[in-house]
Amino acid sequence: MTALHDLSVAQLAQDLRAKKMSAVEVAEHFLARCQADTLGSFLSMDPQVTLDQARLAQAQLAQGTAGPLAGVPMAHKDIFVTADFPTTAGSKMLAGYRSPFDATVVQKLGVSSGGAGMVNLGKLNCDEFAMGSSNENSAYHPVQNPWDSTRVPGGSSGGSAAAVAARLLPAATGTDTGGSIRQPASFCGITGIKPTYGRASRYGMVAYASSLDQAGPMARTAQDCALLLSAMCGPDLERDSTSLDVPAEDFSRELTGSLDGLRIGMPQEFFAQGLAPGVRAAVNAALKEYEKLGARLVPISLPRTELSIPVYYIIAPAEASSNLSRFDGVKFGHRAKDYTDLVSMYKKTRAQGFGEEVKRRIMTGAYVLSHGYYDAYYLQAQKIRRMIADDFQQAFKVCDVIAGPVAPTVAWKLGEKTDDPVANYLADIFTLPASLAGLPGMSLPAGLGEAGMPVGLQLIGNYFKEAQLLNAAHRLQQATDFHLAQPGGQ
Ligand code: GLN
Repeated sequence: MTALHDLSVAQLAQDLRAKKMSAVEVAEHFLARCQADTLGSFLSMDPQVTLDQARLAQAQLAQGTAGPLAGVPMAHKDIFVTADFPTTAGSKMLAGYRSPFDATVVQKLGVSSGGAGMVNLGKLNCDEFAMGSSNENSAYHPVQNPWDSTRVPGGSSGGSAAAVAARLLPAATGTDTGGSIRQPASFCGITGIKPTYGRASRYGMVAYASSLDQAGPMARTAQDCALLLSAMCGPDLERDSTSLDVPAEDFSRELTGSLDGLRIGMPQEFFAQGLAPGVRAAVNAALKEYEKLGARLVPISLPRTELSIPVYYIIAPAEASSNLSRFDGVKFGHRAKDYTDLVSMYKKTRAQGFGEEVKRRIMTGAYVLSHGYYDAYYLQAQKIRRMIADDFQQAFKVCDVIAGPVAPTVAWKLGEKTDDPVANYLADIFTLPASLAGLPGMSLPAGLGEAGMPVGLQLIGNYFKEAQLLNAAHRLQQATDFHLAQPGGQ
């Protein structure tokens, strides 16, 4: 019999509904695996809370009131606020913080009434306030890549990716501001999707850069991502001013497996020098499979790809410097012990509570927004952001989806880039363009590259084309076994 942790979200949901096992048994199995985790994936767990949720899911299944994913376990990136678990955003600033409410995404996936019925195993490690590409900016501890414990899992949703790859849980949430779902999915050999900006509510997501932040699922297959994404999306107009009034879709219904003349655009800038040979080979092999399946590859250009790095690293810190001003020791989170007056309390609280990378970004953001520099940096960046979005619209005139690598290399070694923030920023080159344009993007396994580490294939779609992306990914996963490769020894 297949072990419970080898089952997909789809299979678990079906078996629970067919009463082949109970939600409590499933929760106990996964809890035991999570408690034995040696990768550092979790920031908090609370077995009693998890088991209570499992009992509730079981009761809903028995009464026929259960949501579509009732009893299937998952865990949330510690950026989503939860009433039942602490929320830290990976920061000392929020150590021990407990939210009085659940984020919309948490509520939509969870066991409360109207939710999909998933059982929460706890909160997953991430870079502090989602700033980073390696999870090493977590104020608590780094996460190890399950494929090689000396390497990073990617970031900022590193705990989510490592936990799914190590089969500690079948699915998790992540957030993507500049690549934080796609890049860790790529580094850990799993599947993840960031929907169109505005499709999933940001309510209750600790804000990093509000015009870019988007929630999305991470799982082993496109089919499982489709199941979670269907539950996560939908308008939340009252609570998130950037939520789009676009109805939720059942993405799993659209997994027809038909590629029917799909035109896949290959941006020349994504295949330029600097791409690791093993990454290039794996991405090309996956694209060859698409050709065999009937898709057509077309050369395209996204001429401002390189500019997405300076543009993102101006806009995101600018928004972060504003968003993070709320952490001042007054309303919530850490407050310095010894201070003389209000200003000294602010200063000491923020000096103690924030890590180095967060401080670096607050300073950069304050600088680019300051009088005299606003026009030269922030305004220019906004203009180029618009051009980057326009470049995609040009490209979508000749192709349906865009494909390329997620990152220039496989997962690097822990510690390799910690002293060099710019080296981290440069590694985001292929994920930032879609983020700046607000487009949906995903990563799916495309085989192994350097050092036998996983390589992700990135697919980018036009606005609201999540179904098309998921279907294209699903088709590849039906025809190949890239997504079945597993880290050794798990
Ligand atoms: N690596 C990027 C950064 O450091 C993206 C992070 C994210 O998407 N949250 O900002």
